[in-house]
Amino acid sequence: KADTAMFVVKEDGKDNYCFYSEDIETRTIQRVTITNEMRKSIKNNELILNYQPIFDLKKMHMIGTEALIRWIHPTRGYVSPQSFIPLAEETGFIKDITRWVVGNACMQNSIWNKEFGKDMKISINISGRDFLEDRFLEDLKEFSLKYRIQSSCVQLEITETSVISDIDHAIEKLKELKKLGFTIALDDFGSGYSSLTYIRKLPIDALKIDRGFINSITENENDKNIVKMIIDMAHLLDFKVIAEGIETVEQLNILKDFGCDMAQGYYLGKPVGPEEIKSPPLFLRGRLFLCP
Ligand code: C2E
Ligand code: MG
Ligand code: MG
Ligand code: MG
Repeated sequence: KADTAMFVVKEDGKDNYCFYSEDIETRTIQRVTITNEMRKSIKNNELILNYQPIFDLKKMHMIGTEALIRWIHPTRGYVSPQSFIPLAEETGFIKDITRWVVGNACMQNSIWNKEFGKDMKISINISGRDFLEDRFLEDLKEFSLKYRIQSSCVQLEITETSVISDIDHAIEKLKELKKLGFTIALDDFGSGYSSLTYIRKLPIDALKIDRGFINSITENENDKNIVKMIIDMAHLLDFKVIAEGIETVEQLNILKDFGCDMAQGYYLGKPVGPEEIKSPPLFLRGRLFLCP
Protein backbone atom coordinates (compact mmCIF):
# COMPACT_ATOMS: atom_id res chain seq x y z
CA LYS A 1 0.00 0.00 0.00
CA ALA A 2 2.22 2.77 -1.26
CA ASP A 3 -0.23 5.53 -0.48
CA THR A 4 -0.23 4.92 3.26
CA ALA A 5 3.45 5.72 3.72
CA MET A 6 3.05 9.45 3.69
CA PHE A 7 4.50 11.97 6.00
CA VAL A 8 5.22 15.25 4.31
CA VAL A 9 2.42 17.21 2.77
CA LYS A 10 2.87 19.42 -0.23
CA GLU A 11 1.23 22.71 0.58
CA ASP A 12 -0.30 23.08 -2.85
CA GLY A 13 -3.85 23.25 -1.62
CA LYS A 14 -4.64 19.94 -3.22
CA ASP A 15 -3.82 17.85 -0.20
CA ASN A 16 -1.29 15.88 -2.19
CA TYR A 17 1.11 13.81 -0.22
CA CYS A 18 4.73 13.55 -1.18
CA PHE A 19 7.32 11.25 0.24
CA TYR A 20 10.61 11.80 1.95
CA SER A 21 11.90 8.86 0.05
CA GLU A 22 10.86 6.51 -2.71
CA ASP A 23 12.76 3.75 -1.02
CA ILE A 24 10.57 1.44 1.03
CA GLU A 25 13.23 0.69 3.62
CA THR A 26 14.03 4.36 4.23
CA ARG A 27 10.36 5.07 4.38
CA THR A 28 9.81 2.36 6.96
CA ILE A 29 12.58 3.78 9.15
CA GLN A 30 11.08 7.25 8.86
CA ARG A 31 7.69 5.96 9.80
CA VAL A 32 9.08 4.23 12.87
CA THR A 33 11.00 7.38 13.87
CA ILE A 34 8.00 9.60 13.42
CA THR A 35 5.75 7.18 15.26
CA ASN A 36 8.14 7.20 18.22
CA GLU A 37 8.33 10.98 18.14
CA MET A 38 4.58 11.20 17.95
CA ARG A 39 4.28 9.07 21.10
CA LYS A 40 6.35 11.66 22.97
CA SER A 41 4.50 14.64 21.53
CA ILE A 42 1.70 14.57 24.08
CA LYS A 43 3.80 14.51 27.23
CA ASN A 44 6.30 16.98 25.73
CA ASN A 45 3.46 19.45 25.08
CA GLU A 46 4.16 19.62 21.36
CA LEU A 47 0.52 19.35 20.36
CA ILE A 48 -1.71 22.39 20.27
CA LEU A 49 -5.24 23.07 19.15
CA ASN A 50 -6.24 25.91 16.90
CA TYR A 51 -9.86 26.89 16.57
CA GLN A 52 -11.70 28.10 13.51
CA PRO A 53 -14.92 30.05 14.10
CA ILE A 54 -18.16 28.65 12.67
CA PHE A 55 -20.81 31.20 11.69
CA ASP A 56 -24.56 30.96 11.53
CA LEU A 57 -25.39 32.48 8.15
CA LYS A 58 -28.95 33.45 9.07
CA LYS A 59 -28.16 35.26 12.30
CA MET A 60 -24.67 36.20 11.16
CA HIS A 61 -22.85 35.41 14.31
CA MET A 62 -20.31 32.94 15.58
CA ILE A 63 -21.92 29.89 17.14
CA GLY A 64 -18.80 27.96 17.96
CA THR A 65 -15.53 26.64 16.65
CA GLU A 66 -13.86 23.63 15.07
CA ALA A 67 -10.80 22.31 16.89
CA LEU A 68 -7.87 21.64 14.55
CA ILE A 69 -4.76 19.94 15.83
CA ARG A 70 -1.19 21.09 15.15
CA TRP A 71 2.05 19.38 16.00
CA ILE A 72 4.89 21.78 16.72
CA HIS A 73 7.83 19.45 16.39
CA PRO A 74 11.06 20.55 18.18
CA THR A 75 13.21 20.19 15.05
CA ARG A 76 10.82 19.72 12.12
CA GLY A 77 8.63 22.63 13.12
CA TYR A 78 5.01 22.69 12.06
CA VAL A 79 3.71 19.30 11.03
CA SER A 80 0.35 19.28 9.27
CA PRO A 81 -2.39 17.03 10.65
CA GLN A 82 -2.84 15.73 7.13
CA SER A 83 0.54 14.05 7.42
CA PHE A 84 0.59 12.71 10.95
CA ILE A 85 -3.07 11.83 11.52
CA PRO A 86 -3.04 9.06 8.85
CA LEU A 87 0.06 7.57 10.44
CA ALA A 88 -1.48 7.82 13.90
CA GLU A 89 -4.54 6.03 12.54
CA GLU A 90 -2.42 3.20 11.21
CA THR A 91 -0.47 2.71 14.41
CA GLY A 92 -3.44 3.07 16.73
CA PHE A 93 -1.89 6.11 18.44
CA ILE A 94 -4.87 8.09 17.20
CA LYS A 95 -6.76 6.89 20.29
CA ASP A 96 -4.39 8.83 22.54
CA ILE A 97 -4.46 11.84 20.25
CA THR A 98 -8.25 11.86 20.18
CA ARG A 99 -8.44 11.60 23.95
CA TRP A 100 -6.07 14.55 24.19
CA VAL A 101 -8.09 16.55 21.64
CA VAL A 102 -11.46 15.82 23.28
CA GLY A 103 -10.12 16.75 26.73
CA ASN A 104 -8.51 19.99 25.61
CA ALA A 105 -11.31 21.08 23.30
CA CYS A 106 -13.92 20.53 26.03
CA MET A 107 -11.80 22.41 28.54
CA GLN A 108 -11.36 25.37 26.19
CA ASN A 109 -15.02 25.38 25.29
CA SER A 110 -16.02 25.53 28.94
CA ILE A 111 -13.78 28.61 29.32
CA TRP A 112 -15.63 30.28 26.44
CA ASN A 113 -19.01 29.29 27.84
CA LYS A 114 -18.20 31.23 31.00
CA GLU A 115 -16.45 34.10 29.25
CA PHE A 116 -19.19 34.64 26.67
CA GLY A 117 -22.11 33.78 28.95
CA LYS A 118 -23.53 31.50 26.31
CA ASP A 119 -23.15 27.87 25.27
CA MET A 120 -20.66 27.62 22.46
CA LYS A 121 -20.54 24.68 20.09
CA ILE A 122 -17.34 22.73 19.71
CA SER A 123 -16.68 20.61 16.65
CA ILE A 124 -14.14 17.79 16.87
CA ASN A 125 -12.65 15.76 14.01
CA ILE A 126 -12.91 12.05 14.60
CA SER A 127 -11.12 9.22 12.84
CA GLY A 128 -12.88 6.08 11.76
CA ARG A 129 -10.72 4.16 14.17
CA ASP A 130 -12.04 6.26 17.07
CA PHE A 131 -15.74 5.95 17.18
CA LEU A 132 -15.78 2.21 16.72
CA GLU A 133 -13.92 1.96 20.04
CA ASP A 134 -15.80 1.99 23.33
CA ARG A 135 -13.01 4.02 24.84
CA PHE A 136 -13.87 6.98 22.66
CA LEU A 137 -17.40 7.13 24.02
CA GLU A 138 -16.02 6.89 27.55
CA ASP A 139 -13.58 9.75 26.86
CA LEU A 140 -16.37 11.88 25.46
CA LYS A 141 -18.63 11.23 28.42
CA GLU A 142 -15.80 11.80 30.88
CA PHE A 143 -14.72 15.16 29.51
CA SER A 144 -18.11 16.60 28.67
CA LEU A 145 -19.16 15.79 32.25
CA LYS A 146 -15.94 17.11 33.78
CA TYR A 147 -16.16 20.42 31.93
CA ARG A 148 -19.96 20.63 32.05
CA ILE A 149 -20.38 20.74 28.31
CA GLN A 150 -23.84 19.83 27.07
CA SER A 151 -23.61 16.92 24.68
CA SER A 152 -25.76 18.83 22.19
CA CYS A 153 -22.94 21.40 21.98
CA VAL A 154 -20.41 18.80 20.91
CA GLN A 155 -20.31 18.07 17.18
CA LEU A 156 -18.33 15.09 15.96
CA GLU A 157 -16.99 15.38 12.43
CA ILE A 158 -16.65 12.12 10.61
CA THR A 159 -15.71 11.39 7.02
CA GLU A 160 -17.33 9.08 4.56
CA THR A 161 -14.14 7.06 4.11
CA SER A 162 -13.99 6.44 7.84
CA VAL A 163 -17.39 4.76 7.91
CA ILE A 164 -17.36 2.99 4.56
CA SER A 165 -15.34 -0.07 5.60
CA ASP A 166 -17.84 -1.21 8.20
CA ILE A 167 -20.96 0.77 7.57
CA ASP A 168 -23.34 -1.24 9.77
CA HIS A 169 -21.05 -1.13 12.79
CA ALA A 170 -20.50 2.59 12.19
CA ILE A 171 -24.23 3.28 12.05
CA GLU A 172 -24.75 1.41 15.30
CA LYS A 173 -22.01 3.44 17.03
CA LEU A 174 -23.26 6.73 15.61
CA LYS A 175 -26.74 5.98 16.88
CA GLU A 176 -25.32 5.39 20.33
CA LEU A 177 -23.57 8.77 20.23
CA LYS A 178 -26.70 10.49 19.01
CA LYS A 179 -28.74 8.90 21.77
CA LEU A 180 -26.42 10.59 24.25
CA GLY A 181 -27.17 13.90 22.53
CA PHE A 182 -23.93 14.43 20.60
CA THR A 183 -24.34 15.75 17.08
CA ILE A 184 -22.71 14.28 14.01
CA ALA A 185 -21.51 16.08 10.90
CA LEU A 186 -20.30 14.42 7.73
CA ASP A 187 -17.06 16.25 6.85
CA ASP A 188 -15.61 16.88 3.37
CA PHE A 189 -18.89 16.06 1.63
CA GLY A 190 -18.33 16.12 -2.11
CA SER A 191 -14.67 15.17 -1.97
CA GLY A 192 -15.14 11.42 -2.05
CA TYR A 193 -17.83 9.18 -3.41
CA SER A 194 -20.58 11.12 -1.65
CA SER A 195 -22.91 8.27 -2.26
CA LEU A 196 -26.57 8.95 -1.71
CA THR A 197 -26.94 5.46 -0.30
CA TYR A 198 -24.63 6.35 2.56
CA ILE A 199 -25.98 9.71 3.48
CA ARG A 200 -29.47 8.30 3.48
CA LYS A 201 -28.40 5.55 5.87
CA LEU A 202 -26.12 7.50 8.18
CA PRO A 203 -27.68 9.00 11.31
CA ILE A 204 -26.11 12.43 10.88
CA ASP A 205 -27.23 15.96 11.76
CA ALA A 206 -25.21 18.01 9.31
CA LEU A 207 -23.28 17.92 6.06
CA LYS A 208 -20.10 19.91 5.59
CA ILE A 209 -19.61 20.78 1.95
CA ASP A 210 -15.98 20.31 0.96
CA ARG A 211 -14.02 23.41 0.14
CA GLY A 212 -13.18 21.96 -3.26
CA PHE A 213 -16.74 22.87 -4.33
CA ILE A 214 -16.88 26.20 -2.55
CA ASN A 215 -13.66 27.19 -4.30
CA SER A 216 -15.22 27.17 -7.71
CA ILE A 217 -18.82 28.32 -7.14
CA THR A 218 -18.06 31.80 -8.41
CA GLU A 219 -16.42 30.59 -11.64
CA ASN A 220 -18.04 27.31 -12.45
CA GLU A 221 -21.78 27.32 -13.10
CA ASN A 222 -21.96 23.53 -12.75
CA ASP A 223 -20.32 23.54 -9.35
CA LYS A 224 -22.60 26.34 -8.27
CA ASN A 225 -25.63 24.28 -9.30
CA ILE A 226 -24.26 21.22 -7.56
CA VAL A 227 -23.79 23.16 -4.33
CA LYS A 228 -27.36 24.42 -4.54
CA MET A 229 -28.54 20.88 -5.12
CA ILE A 230 -26.54 19.56 -2.15
CA ILE A 231 -28.05 22.22 0.12
CA ASP A 232 -31.60 21.53 -1.04
CA MET A 233 -31.12 17.80 -0.78
CA ALA A 234 -29.60 18.06 2.71
CA HIS A 235 -32.55 20.18 3.86
CA LEU A 236 -35.02 17.68 2.46
CA LEU A 237 -33.26 15.00 4.48
CA ASP A 238 -33.44 17.31 7.51
CA PHE A 239 -29.69 17.92 7.75
CA LYS A 240 -28.07 21.27 8.43
CA VAL A 241 -25.46 22.41 5.93
CA ILE A 242 -22.08 23.87 6.76
CA ALA A 243 -19.91 25.29 3.97
CA GLU A 244 -16.16 24.95 4.41
CA GLY A 245 -13.38 27.06 2.96
CA ILE A 246 -15.12 30.35 2.24
CA GLU A 247 -12.41 32.71 1.04
CA THR A 248 -14.34 35.53 -0.65
CA VAL A 249 -17.40 37.67 -0.07
CA GLU A 250 -18.82 36.46 -3.40
CA GLN A 251 -18.74 32.86 -2.22
CA LEU A 252 -20.35 33.89 1.05
CA ASN A 253 -23.18 35.74 -0.66
CA ILE A 254 -23.98 32.83 -2.98
CA LEU A 255 -24.14 30.45 -0.03
CA LYS A 256 -26.38 32.80 1.94
CA ASP A 257 -28.59 33.04 -1.12
CA PHE A 258 -28.81 29.28 -1.36
CA GLY A 259 -29.96 29.04 2.26
CA CYS A 260 -26.79 27.42 3.57
CA ASP A 261 -27.05 27.28 7.36
CA MET A 262 -23.48 27.72 8.54
CA ALA A 263 -20.05 28.56 7.19
CA GLN A 264 -16.34 28.56 7.90
CA GLY A 265 -13.38 29.81 5.95
CA TYR A 266 -10.42 32.14 5.83
CA TYR A 267 -12.71 35.01 4.81
CA LEU A 268 -14.71 34.65 8.03
CA GLY A 269 -11.86 33.61 10.27
CA LYS A 270 -8.73 31.49 10.05
CA PRO A 271 -7.91 28.79 12.58
CA VAL A 272 -6.28 30.63 15.49
CA GLY A 273 -5.08 30.08 19.04
CA PRO A 274 -7.86 30.07 21.67
CA GLU A 275 -6.97 33.53 22.97
CA GLU A 276 -7.82 35.04 19.59
CA ILE A 277 -11.41 33.82 19.57
CA LYS A 278 -13.51 36.87 20.43
CA SER A 279 -16.81 37.17 22.18
CA PRO A 280 -19.95 36.43 20.19
CA PRO A 281 -22.13 37.64 18.68
CA LEU A 282 -19.30 38.66 16.49
CA PHE A 283 -20.50 40.71 13.57
CA LEU A 284 -17.50 40.26 11.43
CA ARG A 285 -16.81 42.92 8.82
CA GLY A 286 -20.26 44.35 9.57
CA ARG A 287 -20.92 45.98 6.22
CA LEU A 288 -20.71 42.79 4.33
CA PHE A 289 -23.58 41.29 6.20
CA LEU A 290 -25.88 44.11 5.17
CA CYS A 291 -26.00 42.58 1.70
CA PRO A 292 -29.50 41.22 1.04
P1 C2E B 1 -11.02 19.33 7.94
O1 C2E B 1 -11.64 18.82 9.18
O2 C2E B 1 -11.82 19.25 6.70
O3 C2E B 1 -10.58 20.81 8.28
C1 C2E B 1 -10.58 21.86 7.34
C2 C2E B 1 -9.19 22.20 6.88
O4 C2E B 1 -9.28 23.29 5.96
C3 C2E B 1 -8.26 22.69 7.99
O5 C2E B 1 -6.95 22.29 7.64
C4 C2E B 1 -8.41 24.19 7.90
O6 C2E B 1 -7.29 24.89 8.43
C5 C2E B 1 -8.53 24.39 6.42
N1 C2E B 1 -9.29 25.59 6.06
C6 C2E B 1 -10.27 26.22 6.75
N2 C2E B 1 -10.74 27.28 6.07
C7 C2E B 1 -10.06 27.33 4.91
C8 C2E B 1 -10.10 28.22 3.76
O7 C2E B 1 -10.86 29.18 3.69
N3 C2E B 1 -9.24 27.93 2.75
C9 C2E B 1 -8.36 26.88 2.79
N4 C2E B 1 -7.54 26.68 1.76
N5 C2E B 1 -8.31 26.03 3.85
C10 C2E B 1 -9.14 26.25 4.89
P2 C2E B 1 -5.97 21.63 8.71
O8 C2E B 1 -6.13 22.34 10.01
O9 C2E B 1 -4.63 21.52 8.11
O10 C2E B 1 -6.57 20.17 8.91
C11 C2E B 1 -6.58 19.25 7.88
C12 C2E B 1 -7.36 18.02 8.23
O11 C2E B 1 -6.72 17.30 9.28
C13 C2E B 1 -8.76 18.30 8.74
O12 C2E B 1 -9.63 18.55 7.66
C14 C2E B 1 -9.06 17.02 9.47
O13 C2E B 1 -9.49 16.03 8.57
C15 C2E B 1 -7.70 16.63 10.03
N6 C2E B 1 -7.63 17.03 11.44
C16 C2E B 1 -7.35 18.24 11.98
N7 C2E B 1 -7.39 18.20 13.34
C17 C2E B 1 -7.73 16.92 13.66
C18 C2E B 1 -7.94 16.24 14.91
O14 C2E B 1 -7.89 16.80 16.01
N8 C2E B 1 -8.25 14.90 14.82
C19 C2E B 1 -8.38 14.25 13.63
N9 C2E B 1 -8.67 12.93 13.64
N10 C2E B 1 -8.17 14.86 12.46
C20 C2E B 1 -7.86 16.18 12.46
MG1 MG C 1 -13.39 18.95 10.01
MG1 MG D 1 -13.48 19.25 5.85
MG1 MG E 1 -10.49 17.00 5.74
